[in-house]
Amino acid sequence: MKVLVVNAGSSSLKYQLIEMETETVLCKGVVEKIGLNGSLITHKYGDQKVIVEDTINDHTKAFNLLIDCLVNKDYGVIDSVEEIGAIGHRVVHSGEEFDSSTYVGDEEMKKLQSVAHLAPLHNPANIACIQLCKSLLPKVPNVAVFDTAFHSTMPKKAKMYGIPYEIYEKYQIRRYGFHGTSHKFVSGEAIKYLTSKGLPCSKIVTCHLGNGSSISAVKDGKCVDTSMGMTPMAGVMMGTRCGDIDPAVVEMIADNTGMSLKETTNYLNKQSGFMGVSGVSSDARELCKAASEGNERAQLAKDMFAYQVQKFIGSYAVAMNGLDCVVFTGGIGENSWEFRELIMQNTEFLGVAFDQEKNKTSEARGNFCDLSKPESKVKVLVIPTNEELVIARETQEIVQSL
Ligand code: AMP
Repeated sequence: MKVLVVNAGSSSLKYQLIEMETETVLCKGVVEKIGLNGSLITHKYGDQKVIVEDTINDHTKAFNLLIDCLVNKDYGVIDSVEEIGAIGHRVVHSGEEFDSSTYVGDEEMKKLQSVAHLAPLHNPANIACIQLCKSLLPKVPNVAVFDTAFHSTMPKKAKMYGIPYEIYEKYQIRRYGFHGTSHKFVSGEAIKYLTSKGLPCSKIVTCHLGNGSSISAVKDGKCVDTSMGMTPMAGVMMGTRCGDIDPAVVEMIADNTGMSLKETTNYLNKQSGFMGVSGVSSDARELCKAASEGNERAQLAKDMFAYQVQKFIGSYAVAMNGLDCVVFTGGIGENSWEFRELIMQNTEFLGVAFDQEKNKTSEARGNFCDLSKPESKVKVLVIPTNEELVIARETQEIVQSL
């Protein structure tokens, strides 16, 4: 079966067409700047790439262009859309309506719409894209795969906020967690690797560190805690997001600056984190460069991030009563030896023997790599994430069970 994986944002549309028998990516691409000046589609197949610039006013046009790329005589990879067996959609927030991936029929669509307000920047675009696929390719089944689903196994003591219970019941306000497909993929890969070596694998901390970052505690293959919350603003400080913060600070910033509550939230979401603290960039590479040139605020942002990740690792080791493995993934986790080195400081007492030399090699950049010394009780792994593959696998599984 060929599965089309679609990740729709408000102004972008990412896609991959995957042949499931061999789990081969036939092509992938992104439509960018939908509804804006300079819209274009970048389509990659094999080792080739085409860029089509066009006026792309809406997602319908974007999706039609995407389909054209798939079947195009010169750079397409299939003869007709009939070859698409299913479409898997990344949907950010499931609310309490779903705790796993789902086929999207009429009933499910209503439920999706009822929780759209929980992720106002993401879910409406995801839902609109599913509707579009249903109308343009009515014979192809659609499956929603949620960022939140992997975290649905968290016990209630980890899910709940210390707010009046009625507020939770009435508005579903609790911690949900995000990057679930990534945490699921890398913890699964870590379990496979550790099992093949005869090593324990029941207590894993997965660190997805990128523009957005989250850390999860995975016990016996199931998520028992995660750092993000009701929204992806929570947890560690990120590229532009503040991470965990005293809630009273929000009103304090608003009062002092004259910003509205909405503006303040936006400020904490888009202008804080690495960007806000360093004043240099939201990008980890720029941050490291500035810090190495002596920029103190860039160094501070680096230290804050590493320290916050460390604290999550430590607290999750206690939550799981031990630690077998730490996994690094995401743009920073997969590529930045500097951040991995900083984060792994002070972990010797947990039984970590971190191989600092191996950590700096090119082998440890963007590849699966074991960074622990042979005597290390806790394994430290770099595992490149593959969220699209998780979406495609779940889509295939659901469609085959229909
Ligand atoms: P992601 O959101 O997972 O795509 O990750 C993006 C982040 O990864 C950005 O902050 C990048 O600067 C960071 N990143 C990518 N490559 C490197 C690298 N070689 N060193 C440090 N950070 C990197």
